Amino acid sequence: MQQDNPDITLITQTAPVAATTHGGRAKCLQRLVRLNLPVPKTVALSFDAVHRIAGGEMPDMQVLLEPFGPAPLLCVRPSSEDPDWGGPGAVLNVGINDARYLKLSQTLGLRAAASIYLRFVQSFAIHVARLDPDMFEDVALDGPEGLAEVLRVYEDETEEPFPQDPAVQLAEVLRSMARAWEGTTARLLRQAKGAPADAGLGLVVQEMALGLGQGQGECGSGVIQLVDSKTGLPQITGRYLSQSQGRDALEGDASLFLERDPRGPSLQELEPEGFDQLIAHTRLMRQRLREEMQAEFTIENGQVHVLDGVRVARNARAAVRIAVSLAEDGIISRDDALMRIEPRSMNELLHRQIDPDAPRDRLARGIAASPGAASGRIVFSAAEAQASAARGEPCILVRRETSPEDIRGMHAAVAVLTERGGMTSHAAVIGRGMGLPCVVGASSLSFQPRRKTLMVPDGREFRAGDIITVDGTNGEVLAGEPAMLEAAQGDAFQTLMGWADEVRDIGVRANADTPADAQTARNFNAQGIGLCRTEHMFFEADRLTVMREMIFADDGDDRRAALDRLLPMQRADFIELFRIMQGQPVCIRLFDPPLHEFLPSDRAGHRELAEALDLPLSDVTRRVEALSEYNPMLGMRGVRLGITMPEIYDMQARAIFEATIEASKDGAPVVPEIMIPLVSAKREVELVKTRIDAAAAAVRNETGRDFTFRLGVMVETPRAALRAAEIAQHSSFLSFGTNDLTQMTYGLSRDDAGRFMSTYVQQGVFPEDPFHQLDIEGVGELLQIGAERGREARPDLVLSICGEHGGNPESIAFCRAAGFNYVSCSPFRVPVARLAAAQFAV
Ligand code: PEP
Ligand code: MG
Repeated sequence: MQQDNPDITLITQTAPVAATTHGGRAKCLQRLVRLNLPVPKTVALSFDAVHRIAGGEMPDMQVLLEPFGPAPLLCVRPSSEDPDWGGPGAVLNVGINDARYLKLSQTLGLRAAASIYLRFVQSFAIHVARLDPDMFEDVALDGPEGLAEVLRVYEDETEEPFPQDPAVQLAEVLRSMARAWEGTTARLLRQAKGAPADAGLGLVVQEMALGLGQGQGECGSGVIQLVDSKTGLPQITGRYLSQSQGRDALEGDASLFLERDPRGPSLQELEPEGFDQLIAHTRLMRQRLREEMQAEFTIENGQVHVLDGVRVARNARAAVRIAVSLAEDGIISRDDALMRIEPRSMNELLHRQIDPDAPRDRLARGIAASPGAASGRIVFSAAEAQASAARGEPCILVRRETSPEDIRGMHAAVAVLTERGGMTSHAAVIGRGMGLPCVVGASSLSFQPRRKTLMVPDGREFRAGDIITVDGTNGEVLAGEPAMLEAAQGDAFQTLMGWADEVRDIGVRANADTPADAQTARNFNAQGIGLCRTEHMFFEADRLTVMREMIFADDGDDRRAALDRLLPMQRADFIELFRIMQGQPVCIRLFDPPLHEFLPSDRAGHRELAEALDLPLSDVTRRVEALSEYNPMLGMRGVRLGITMPEIYDMQARAIFEATIEASKDGAPVVPEIMIPLVSAKREVELVKTRIDAAAAAVRNETGRDFTFRLGVMVETPRAALRAAEIAQHSSFLSFGTNDLTQMTYGLSRDDAGRFMSTYVQQGVFPEDPFHQLDIEGVGELLQIGAERGREARPDLVLSICGEHGGNPESIAFCRAAGFNYVSCSPFRVPVARLAAAQFAV
């Protein structure tokens, strides 16, 4: 073997083997060799060599076989750069032939020898000669008779004798594995796992440790690891099967290591010394490879051989525990631990999930709008949802789309499913805020709310009361109730989050509208509230009526009278929020939505309203019509409402100031932040500012108490971003509302985009749904311009983002680079944001 030929390299402590040239498996095996572990002799073939083999250019087989001596028995395994990219299956027992079989029969017994030969003939037939695996289905795959039968099938089908020359066998196996890697299906599969189109494959050829034998000590194979894959907690676990090879122990009825196993004695009982050695080897791997590893091993006549080491498979919860333990044991740094966790995988710890091992009966796919999963009975209205919750029956609210009227139904439901809508539709935003699993835009389902049925594309019909499951983590709707895994945060999660907070350099606040949201935000250590949407406070039953009276008021005086009744309610809301947040900043957005959202949309609702307000029905319908707009999202809403009906903001400002005084009496001093929505001109800010200052002065006068507050602008229109310099003159902060800003930059309705977004993404018009992933090129440029112009005019300007994008790692990277002070996102995304922010700072 020439060590100067890096294409074919005997793995020694110093051989030039790298993951980028020979693959991750070859590199890992070399590390094991360096640790002096009992690794069978192994030769690595480089990506280049394997690529040439696929093209028909074989290496010199004598050179390749030389290290293994005469009559070797070998195993060939794939070695891609990243083990997760997969590769063709391992082929064992290469080199066996009639002569070797006879010899082995004498030492191992006929049965074991036959099983070795048979395994190879069968894989050769399927992978190299490409015979249909079904052909071997009826063959009794055991003993010398089985072997004879498999050889007969092979020779009948190929019309050739089974190759006897080990060099020929090995060459064929290498060629078939090299070609399998270059096939289209394999390429697409690995690309889906993130591999580049031209990812290389290395191969490792390893001397077999047999795992079969008789009379000279224990023989078998298995795997061992030191932690539990589901929890990450220390637990020596694994599988072992006497008289077996390869991954037999993982498939068959192998015994578990741990306790006594009814299926047979454990490895610990059969081979206590080998067991102890394996634990020591795996510990050493953990220590020196700086990773929790699973060792693949064979025991041959009582001798332990370590064939391979792979990263222990793990779910998100175990991943956090493992990373924290490694750091606490001083094996990796805290920064490394932070970098090892994919921020989005935190969702698995924050919400219930469907057990990945549970069977899934999928009915439809939609947009994964809010993570977590829940099962319950179908209900088609908010009222039914409340009734169901009152009976203690978990229910799933199924709607075409949700509107503010559905809020209470959403609170009563365990999950929400809508036919329409996208990432920033009402159901999605509210669902995320509440931590409620939600799938929107499931347009392949046919919703018939009147008939109370839901038709599935495969023809099944579901009715109210039937049980379904909404998986908001991956956007699926399933029949029935699959097994679930509970949310599990635990100590390791808290520790990791603490480390994240120590390194990150951009703030993370939460969007929180209710005391429950605020409490969640605090529990997740958000640094304040970045957006409190006050309008949600008006949908409570007792307030809605007063709100409607306010809308029906004929003039400013009447409006003020209704608002006077809303004032104490709003003040109480704010006092509660301030108390929960204990002096942390709370940014309150003044009233934003178009008024028609508070009015009923059908005739029955109009009639009820006429009764409640003691008005003729015609007055009600006339007013509803007068308020209706062609493009409500571009009409009379946000600051436009604040300027045309200033009494609303007056009331809100007063409620905020009075609450500030009240909450500061018995707690930490409160400095409220007041934010004006949907601004597009400097004059809007001036007008609102004048009235808010007046309200502050009035409250100070009346109470004789002083307080401070900050006034800022929500940048949601392209014009506000462009004119940020003059707007900033009157604002102590700018917060980018990227939901509306995206809607307006694209001229694309956020409530309707769901209908065609998947087509657009599939056809590559947009790389991603821009309501989901911040459009860095377009909307991002507006953020950049707004930030720069704003800061130039006012260097101490506080900058933030509060649209749904705020919790996405990509947006966080962008905002951090643009010098933003903080991001604000749904409470349940706060941990994801804290970790992602930390990773950018490491
Ligand atoms: C926004 O537009 O980005 C925003 C946060 O406000 P809303 O979603 O309430 O319109
Ligand atoms: Mg908005």
